[in-house]
Amino acid sequence: MSDLELDAVALGKVGMMRQTQPEFYVMRLHAVAGDLTARQIRCIARVAARYGRGSVHLSTRQGVEIHYVRQEDLEKARLELLEGGVEMGACGPRVRLIVACPGNETCRQGVIDTKAMAKTLDERYFKTETPSKFKMSVAGCSNNCSKATENDIGIRGAIEPEWVPASCSDCGLCMSLCPVRAISRRESGGNPETPFRYEADEASCINCSTCTSLCPSDAWRVGKRGYHVYIGGTMGRVPRFASLLKKFVTDEDDVYRLVEEAIAFYRQHGNKKERFGHMIDRIGLDTVREVILGSV
Ligand code: SF4
Ligand code: SF4
Ligand code: SF4
Repeated sequence: MSDLELDAVALGKVGMMRQTQPEFYVMRLHAVAGDLTARQIRCIARVAARYGRGSVHLSTRQGVEIHYVRQEDLEKARLELLEGGVEMGACGPRVRLIVACPGNETCRQGVIDTKAMAKTLDERYFKTETPSKFKMSVAGCSNNCSKATENDIGIRGAIEPEWVPASCSDCGLCMSLCPVRAISRRESGGNPETPFRYEADEASCINCSTCTSLCPSDAWRVGKRGYHVYIGGTMGRVPRFASLLKKFVTDEDDVYRLVEEAIAFYRQHGNKKERFGHMIDRIGLDTVREVILGSV
């Protein structure tokens, strides 16, 4: 391997990549859940003006990159960024930036704290080595804005709906709004107080919160909040939609345990440069799922 290639490998580990133009590098920066403070943004702007060409590139994964930095300026730029509270990102076969939508901090439809979860995942795994690149995303609800199902591990907020008979006007709207037709109406066998019941079928319910958001009488309420955990999603040359690892995990710590086991399994069984989802296809989803779920 030439010195230049060796440099490229070493620099890649700290989020720096050679550009098409060999005299220039891309500096990939660290941001969790796409959040940066005003101080960090000012610092990035300064460094981009001083060492790049005065602009930044926003990546598809909520990352910020400074392009057109010369190799001799990389270290000075890195130190200035660090002084402004900006750390370097990641390239190569390791855990990349953790992506998250705003979640329930600011989005009215969010049912989980996506940013807190992204921060925890970042602290535990960011830049740790894996057989190939490894991406994680957290989405606050079934709208899945942060595309959890296109990631090696995706976590999606979910709710379990609870019907409140006293509030229901029997309008029937929820049955037609439910995207998977999980809601049905039953007669209650002559009970004059509750002559009918609306029920959500647990097996077919996708825990999406359409009923709890749109019932005009607030007769569907959030019973419990939880997480759907997905594994093996990827884009790239051979895209693969993520597989559901576990539906409706209610304990946040169980989510972290599943993530830990999934990454450990991948590290143990994944071939070099083989994406997690492709390893799952090689070994078999049922086997992988059984091992990961069995160890939690
Ligand atoms: S996934 Fe849900 S919580 Fe997140 S931004 Fe979209 S609508 Fe809001
Ligand atoms: S939409 Fe609400 S009020 Fe109408 S039938 Fe369903 S639960 Fe009852
Ligand atoms: S949570 Fe979604 S899938 Fe489940 S019953 Fe309500 S609307 Fe249907």
